[in-house]
Parts: sequence; C-alpha cells; structure tokens
Amino acid sequence: MRSIRLSLLIYWLVLLGLALGAVSLLVYNITLQTLLARKEYARGLLLAKNDNARRLLEQWQKTRGDFLEARCREREQEEHDRLDETLLSEARTLATLVRYQFQFNHIPYVGPYPLLGLLTAGLSPNGYVLVPVWVAESVESPLNAPFQIQLQEENLLTSEEEDTSYYYQINSSWGPSWRSRSLGDRWLPFNPGRFADKVLDWEADDVELERGLVVRRVVLKAPVARIIYLRRPNSPDRRPERPPPPRPPRPDFVGPPSPPRERPRPPIYIQCAADTTEREIAITKLRLELDEDLKKLRADVKEELARLDAELDDELNRLEAESGATLASLRNHLLLISLITFAAAGAGVFGLVHLGLAPLRRLSVAVSRVSTKDFRLPFEERRLPVELRPIVDRLNETLDQLKRAFAREKQAAADISHELRTPLTALLTTIEVGLRKSRTPEEYRELLEECRASGQQMSQLVEHLLTLARLDAGVAQVRPRPVDAAEVARQCAAVVRPLAEARGLSLQLKCPDVAALTTDPDKLREVMNNLLHNAIEYNRPDGSVELTVERRNGHLCLEVRDTGIGIAPEAREHIFERFYRADPSRQADGLHAGLGLAIVKGYVELMGGTIAVESEPGQGSTFRILLPAGDDKVTR
Ligand code: ADP
Repeated sequence: MRSIRLSLLIYWLVLLGLALGAVSLLVYNITLQTLLARKEYARGLLLAKNDNARRLLEQWQKTRGDFLEARCREREQEEHDRLDETLLSEARTLATLVRYQFQFNHIPYVGPYPLLGLLTAGLSPNGYVLVPVWVAESVESPLNAPFQIQLQEENLLTSEEEDTSYYYQINSSWGPSWRSRSLGDRWLPFNPGRFADKVLDWEADDVELERGLVVRRVVLKAPVARIIYLRRPNSPDRRPERPPPPRPPRPDFVGPPSPPRERPRPPIYIQCAADTTEREIAITKLRLELDEDLKKLRADVKEELARLDAELDDELNRLEAESGATLASLRNHLLLISLITFAAAGAGVFGLVHLGLAPLRRLSVAVSRVSTKDFRLPFEERRLPVELRPIVDRLNETLDQLKRAFAREKQAAADISHELRTPLTALLTTIEVGLRKSRTPEEYRELLEECRASGQQMSQLVEHLLTLARLDAGVAQVRPRPVDAAEVARQCAAVVRPLAEARGLSLQLKCPDVAALTTDPDKLREVMNNLLHNAIEYNRPDGSVELTVERRNGHLCLEVRDTGIGIAPEAREHIFERFYRADPSRQADGLHAGLGLAIVKGYVELMGGTIAVESEPGQGSTFRILLPAGDDKVTR
C-alpha cells in the first residue's frame, strides 16, 4: 500500500512538474516576446520623439539664427538710414538756406523774413539755423550780393555741429560752389550727370575723402530757379515764364524716383558728409551682439540637445529596467504559482490516493484475518468500489477452493489412515495369531501368505497415493511415443480375461488392427486396466464387458462398457474424487480405496484427453475416453 501510494504520488508529481514546467515556459516565452515587442515599440516611439525634438530644435535654432541675423541687418540698415536721414535733413536745410539766400539777396529790408526763418525752424529739424542766417544776410548785403554762394559757416552750424567729422559742400550747375571749413582744401567728388534731368533728387553713398578716410555722403539736388530767373535773365537755365513753386522734399528715403520734369530748372547740389566711425562702431557692436546671441543660441541648443539625449537615455534605461522588472516579476510569479500548485496538487493527490487506497487497505486487513479456521473474508462488500469487486470475487473463489482443498486434505489424511488401518490390522492380527502357539510349516506358510497379501494392499494403496501426489505436484511426466492403442487394448484384455472368466463374465474386444497415436503407452495401459478391472468388479453374474477402440472425429475413442450395477446420478459426479466409493458396503475393505478413477482422470488429462461416463443404475456403465490422435505410425 505504501509503495503504491508513494509510486502514484511520485508519478503524479513528476507529470505535474513536467506540465507546470512546460506551461510556465510557454507563458514565459509568450510574455517575453510580447514584452520585447512592446519594448521595441516604445523604444521606437522614444527615438522618434527624440528625433522630432532634435529636428524642431535645429529648425528653431536656424529660424532663431535667421531672425537674429535679419534683426541685426535691419538694425544695421537703421544705422545706415539714420545717418543718411540726418545728412539728408541737413542737406535740405542747406538747400532751403541757399534758396532763400538767393531769393532775398536783393530785398532791402529784413522785415518779416527772420520771422519766416523762425517759422521754417519750427517746420524743419535744423531750421533754427535760418534765423541768424537770415538776419545776418539781410542786414549785411541786402541788394548787392553777387551770384556766389556765400554762407557764414559759424552761423550755419551750431557749436555741436562744428565737429570736424561733418563735411558740407555746395555746387551749382552754373559754376559757384562752397565748402565747409572741415573739408579744408579737399573737395567731395561731384558728378551732376548722375542725377540726369531730375529737378529734386538725392542719393547717398560712401566716398573716400582721402586715403584711409571713407565718409558717408548725401547729395541733394535742389532747384533755385525762380530767383535766378528774375535776377539773372542770361542765366543758362533761365525761363521766360514764372517757374512753378518748389517741389516739396521727398517724404522718405524709399519709393519710386520722381518722374522727370518737363521743364528743368537750374539746380544746386548740396553734399553733406559725415565720418562713418560712429556708425561702424554701432554696427560692429551690433555684430558683436549678434555673435554673442548666436553663440548663446548655439550653447542653449547644445544644452537642450544634451538634455534631450539625457532624457532619452533615462527613458530607455527606465524602459529597460521596467522590462527587466516585469520579467523578474513574471518569473517569480510563475515560480510561486508553480510551487503552490505543485504543493497543493501533491497534497491533494496524496489525500486522493490515500482515500482511493482505503478499500485496498480494508481488503488487506480482511485478507490478513483469513485463517485455516475461518476462510471467510470479513469484509463489507457494499462499501467495495466496483473496480475491486472482481478481485474480491476471485479472492472468495480462491478462498473457497482453499477451504475445500483444506477439507480434502483433512479428509484424505483421514481416508488414508482409514484405508491403511484395515490391512495393518489384518497384518498384525495374523502375526499375533501366528505367534500364539507353535505351528506346522504349512500353517506358517499360510499365515505368511496372508501377511504378504496385507502388505501388497498397503503397497498398492501407497503406490496410488504417490501417483496422485505426483499428479498434484505436476511432476508426473508424459513420455509420448507412437503407440498402437489396439495392441495395448489386446494386451490389457488378455491380462483381465482370466479374472473375467473367473467371475463368469464375457469379455469382448472391438478394435481395428492398428489404432496409432502418440501418447504415453504406460499411462494408456494403466487407464485401460483400471477401467476393465472396475467393469469386472462392479458387474453382475453372467454379465459382459466390452472394450472398443476406434477413431472418431479425429480422436481415438476408447470405450469400456459393462452390464454391471451402474452408477446413481448423484454419485456420478463424485466418482472421480479421491476415496469416493458409490457402494458404501465396500468401504475400507483395503482393496477398493476409491483412488482408481481419480488416477485415470489425472492420466487422461495429462495425455490431453477427456473422460466421460454414462450409466444407468442396474443396467451398466460406459466410460468413454477421447484422446487426441494423428496419423502417426506405430513402432512396436
Ligand atoms: P474403487 O477402487 O473403489 O473401485 P474407483 O475409483 O475405481 O475406486 O471407483 C470409484 C467408485 O466408482 C467405486 O467405488 C464404484 O462405486 C464406482 N464405480 C466405478 N466403476 C464402476 C462401474 N463400472 N460400475 C459401477 N460403479 C462403478
């Protein structure tokens, strides 16, 4: 029981372990694949996100850089424009000054012109310079001013503007010109052809005043036509009719150039120039600022990119760690589940096996209680599982057979003792009678003959018992060889014929000349002798005995038929049992111990045949033996 339980448990646990291992491996592999796919997907997303962020950052850097450069250029342009605007404004002021100088050169009184100058000063950024100019000019040379451009520079320029970095020059189209003291003996290059026929125009450019000195210059072309026409009819640009009012100055620096005038008037060219050092310093400063900004921008972008890379590394590390942690958790869970399942299943199986083997255990206890005194199984068969019923039934049958065998054993011992007692008693009695007195030799011979007869009975009985014991032990051997059963039958008939005749019986033998078969001839002879003796023994006077040997359905059939007392039906099934005698009156006579038919049946079965009996009480009996027979040839 213990080993069955243990074996089942081990077998189950091994199977369960394999199944759990396989399932765990499968689950682990599937989860691993899923996790790897998810990790790859998340990694791809992170890389794409990082790429996008980097691209956006680089785009932003480019855009920001472009913006900074554009702003710098714009501010540079503003610097240029500011200087150009200042120069242009001064040129316009000078143009106004020159025009009024010519207009009022011959007016004998100052009158309201200084007031007009004040008014002009209010309208123009540098117009305040007109007030002293007009006062001085009108007072000093009211009518006799020549056609020379004569400006009092100390009145023209304020103290701040007496900076040597500003240069003024006026050229006229008819010859006279003027320049500021800051120019010394230098002249600004002058090319009136660049303005073509435009009446009022201006342009700005950089010119090299002297070697290594580049100045910014604004050239303004302005008309002084009306005064010149009135005062100088022979002027080259003189016109007969009244000239139109002066054109208003350009509102700004840009825009389409003025369309060419139909009637050109004598112009003057006013050049205002200034040193560009300040502007260049400002522009250099702007560029330095730009460089600084770009450097800072690159540093910021680099820092941001580094931050993005670090963030990506962190995310990837976190992803890796999460995957590792998930796998480790899965492994632990699977291990835990497997262990719990293993333990639970082991305990459950142990309990189930214990429960399932309980009937076997009860059966074992019941079997252990079986003894030679009680062959019953003390077992409640109602509670027996159906699977065990065949075993218990077979056990009961075996016990029943054991019981019967045991009883037979006891009976055999009793029978043997009983059978031996008669010849032994006879032997002892004969010897005792012989010893009581002295007798003649003939009497002694007679007594010894009686003793020998008793000894022979006992010897025959012991011989039969030994034969049966050999049959029971399975050591009785058949020594088959080709036999002529007809010949054997003839020999047996010859042996018993004197006995039959002595009993007044007729013995008939019906057999073919040759009835060949392969069997043990000694045992066949023993069988025939036994049946013939019984047929003679249990016959009636004037009866007959018939021995038939023939082939029947592939068998050799031996029949011993007699016309004797027959056998009652209830005795017929016991006559092959040991020590059974149908006629109780013949019991324990020492000659018929009831062992003959048991030996016959044992021998016939040993030879592979069968024996049957038909009998009618008072009519006779027929013993029929069928032995397997081939076409074997007989060797005598
Ligand atoms: P036994 O030595 O007593 O003859 P057997 O075993 O040969 O023992 O026979 C058993 C019993 O069978 C006999 O006691 C007898 O009653 C019965 N019997 C055997 N042969 C015959 C027969 N031919 N006719 C009637 N009864 C027979």
